[in-house]
Amino acid sequence: MDITSLFRENIRQMAPYSTARDEYEGELGIYLDANENPFDNGFNRYPDPHNKRIRARVAQMRGLTPDRIFVGGNGSDEPIDLLFRVFCEPRQDEALSIAPSYGMYRVAAATNDVWLVEVPLTADFELVADDLLARVTPRTKLIFLCSPNNPSANLLNPDEVEKVIRGFGGIVVLDEAYIDFADHPGFLPRLAEFPNLVVLQTLSKAWGMAGIRIGFAFADPEIVAAMERIKYPYSVNVITERLVLQELEREAVRREQIATLVEQRKRLVAALEKLPLVKRVFPSDANFVLVRFDEPRRVYDRLIERGIIVRDRSRIAGCEGCLRLTVGTPSENDALIDALTHIDEPCNAATVPQSDSGRRVTVTRRSRETEITATLDLDNAAPSHIATGLGFFDHMLDQIVHHGGFSLQLEAQGDLHVDEHHTIEDTALVLGEAFRRALGDKRGIGRYGFALPMDESRALVLLDFGGRIAVRWDARFRRERIGDVPTELFEHFFDSFAQAARCNLHIVARGRNEHHKIEGIFKAFARALRMAVERKPFDYSLPSSKGLL
Ligand SMILES: *Cc1c(COP(=O)(O)O)cnc(C)c1O
Repeated sequence: MDITSLFRENIRQMAPYSTARDEYEGELGIYLDANENPFDNGFNRYPDPHNKRIRARVAQMRGLTPDRIFVGGNGSDEPIDLLFRVFCEPRQDEALSIAPSYGMYRVAAATNDVWLVEVPLTADFELVADDLLARVTPRTKLIFLCSPNNPSANLLNPDEVEKVIRGFGGIVVLDEAYIDFADHPGFLPRLAEFPNLVVLQTLSKAWGMAGIRIGFAFADPEIVAAMERIKYPYSVNVITERLVLQELEREAVRREQIATLVEQRKRLVAALEKLPLVKRVFPSDANFVLVRFDEPRRVYDRLIERGIIVRDRSRIAGCEGCLRLTVGTPSENDALIDALTHIDEPCNAATVPQSDSGRRVTVTRRSRETEITATLDLDNAAPSHIATGLGFFDHMLDQIVHHGGFSLQLEAQGDLHVDEHHTIEDTALVLGEAFRRALGDKRGIGRYGFALPMDESRALVLLDFGGRIAVRWDARFRRERIGDVPTELFEHFFDSFAQAARCNLHIVARGRNEHHKIEGIFKAFARALRMAVERKPFDYSLPSSKGLL
């Protein structure tokens, strides 16, 4: 089979755009070829246009040669679009896909002005190869299959898939976005057997890199070469390249996560099957389940009220009544099951479950003396709102938020008519707990923080989120109060914080102005916090305004 005979005429004729970096193969040298800014900041150079490093690594992992790997700079959506452009003449050629399936095939077909015929799967979402092949016309150039299929979640019968590949004279695109969750190796190990097969895989799902946007097409070298010819040059940027190479080294972590998600899927399915409002749970080989309800819209709305967002697929032909539920962390799945179990009970905002993804947490603490709720986000600087009833204390907490670059919404109702003690102590405990929980497994954080800002007062704060607790306080105040806060309670605040956050905290302050001294402590504390919780994939800037260290 001569694959190039299937290409569009213009693609066959076309010479690729040659980038500056195409002409020189070496690594070292003085680069005066691409009009870049020569001063190094880590990303002043163009990336490798042919993704050699990523391809080499993936080739090694998948047991393929690099010339069978196309790297897509916008997930696997990019290869889907490119395949239409390589193989389909606009307004003339056709493509086939199964239905229901992934919506992107239709979008890419429409964008390229190619007629897409969607052939329904059976009511149980099974593929019947003969039904599909019966719809092939001389104009059919591409067939899209998706296994495990989205949104139905089932692996398509591999024998039927093979029958389609063997029975079709054009290109079969097999989207294996979810293959890592299935108990089947997929078709990648057999790629060389089928010159007309393109396997799509993405790093967006099992690999945890949806935010990075990278995906792969695995195919005959001629097809890969054609896609390389027409893609945007440099579609994978240097930051993505580095992150991908870094993440691909963490295969063990990923295997563990996949095993957890498969385990959770089983648990979720078992729990769903017991619920009276569930009509049917379709079998899943992916990290989501398609579930049929009597009243999907009502269930969907009630889940939203409880802060749980799922995908409503009920208006898609074949998926009537169905919602698609992604498998989350164990506690997220608990929250989902709990919400579905109590779907008809009224809910209030306080019971809205918190996602434990991202570094945003809500901590609530109620005691006889105080009631405090704090929502802390380590990675966003807004919104913030602080109300403890103590003006000066609010002002100090605001220093933490402002100079730390955090978002904090904190409301405290305490027995201020008795004393400030409980409100300040419990606020510190809630804040410390919020930091401890938001840091999660602490992967990638700076861990240590230190700060020493100078005014006419100075404050030194040293911080370590290593997990041990120790507090050194070396600051004395001559006044009994600053604003509405007794000065003795500042030490107590930091002590309580350190206990709840589980950190080492050393604080030294000197100075004449009592107000400046305590403000300096809170500012330095904020800076130290920022430094310690910061989680950057990589950072090329020098921590010095002079540009050298
Ligand atoms: C999520 C998904 C993709 C991948 O999308 P990216 O663009 O790589 O993030 C591809 N195919 C299917 C069926 C999917 O569900």
